[in-house]
Amino acid sequence: MSRDQSLTNEALFERAQRVIPGGVNSPVRAFRSVGGTPYFVAEASGPFVYDVEGRRYIDYVQSYGPGICGHAHPAVVEAVRQAAGRGTSYGAPTRDEVLMAEEMCARVVGLEMVRLTNSGTEAVMSAVRLARGVTGRPTVVKFAGCYHGHSDSLLVAGGSGVAQQGLAGSEGVTAGAVADTIVAPYNVVPELDESVAVVCVEPVAANMGLVAPEPGFLQGLRDACDAAGALLLFDEVITGFRLCRGGAAEWFGVRPDIWCFGKVIGGGLPVGAFGASTEIMSGLAPLGGVYQAGTLSGNPLATAAGLAVLGLLDDDAYVLLESTAAALQEGMAGAFAAAGVTAVLPRVGPLLGLFFTEDAPRDFDEARKSADNGRYPPFFHGMLRRGVAFAPGAYEAIFPSLAHTEAEIEATVAAAAATASEMERDSEG
Ligand SMILES: *Cc1c(COP(=O)(O)O)cnc(C)c1O
Repeated sequence: MSRDQSLTNEALFERAQRVIPGGVNSPVRAFRSVGGTPYFVAEASGPFVYDVEGRRYIDYVQSYGPGICGHAHPAVVEAVRQAAGRGTSYGAPTRDEVLMAEEMCARVVGLEMVRLTNSGTEAVMSAVRLARGVTGRPTVVKFAGCYHGHSDSLLVAGGSGVAQQGLAGSEGVTAGAVADTIVAPYNVVPELDESVAVVCVEPVAANMGLVAPEPGFLQGLRDACDAAGALLLFDEVITGFRLCRGGAAEWFGVRPDIWCFGKVIGGGLPVGAFGASTEIMSGLAPLGGVYQAGTLSGNPLATAAGLAVLGLLDDDAYVLLESTAAALQEGMAGAFAAAGVTAVLPRVGPLLGLFFTEDAPRDFDEARKSADNGRYPPFFHGMLRRGVAFAPGAYEAIFPSLAHTEAEIEATVAAAAATASEMERDSEG
């Protein structure tokens, strides 16, 4: 790869910090919790990212989820290239928006209408407004450690970068904005009263590391919502179209009232979506009184990419994705065990997590204890030095893609073995 020798990671980071807060456009990308200088990506292909210094990494970040087919998949690239040639935004409806909505509704049982947004944040924010609008109730229940994007009322006790920075929520959010938000511990069915409009949950919590729902938790939420007349919202921005064709609702056999999607359905383009039954979605403008809009919503590049990705996600793809994740789980667990490093890799289908503790955490308190025990930074840097990129924070999930072959899994496991011995040696010394 040809490159400008003056563009080192170090030099770019220095310049970035002068003109971009923290040098990053999203806090999770900063290396603050692991230390050091972020690698600046020059390009990516399949399971690999390449930094500006020409170094190659096996990438398990995959843009935190969108890269389910790996980077720059030829079918996705070609779809975007062709779409770009036809114009990048019109402010009028398109065929591909219809195809996209039809494809999503065909895969997810109970999903009858969807609206596309530009991000997962927008999707959840709009879905909560819709839930409040159609129920006429104010209260939102969320679970500690779940991340639903960065809108004011949902940041409180958020996972991902909010957790990484040790923030309870965010400065700049008024007491009023969170007055109607109730935070409950994950994996415990809360008591709901008649003020509750909606219960928002990540059906697999994937922003506090990976925390699986305990048996009965999601069904318990379904029952509690039905009893209280509240709506159940599955934030499937990570799990949607990833766990299986029908996402977490199909995987766990529990149907929410409202779904939120993002990440996978954009193939790396900015996109989100929320949907529900025709009855609920009819509350949305222009049919109903709940307003929601977007200049770029349903963007032709995003729908082209999304359709290309969904086209690649057939039954075989899910089998492959899960077996790749299982091989990674098994291999890394073996490497840690052999080196005497205590670790657990919880897995739900193709979604994988990593905690340096004996047991898999069940809620945010447990996740926080294990994420903050100081074991993650040496693991992260040991792997990065060996050409394997995990997220620069212990609160993120691991995202193997369809492009990760046995060779990459083997290389990753070998790197984990070497890193684990190093961690063990250093903790003894
Ligand atoms: C990433 C994420 C969001 C926010 O999506 P953005 O596109 O980053 O705004 C919301 N919910 C969950 C579960 C997520 O993982």
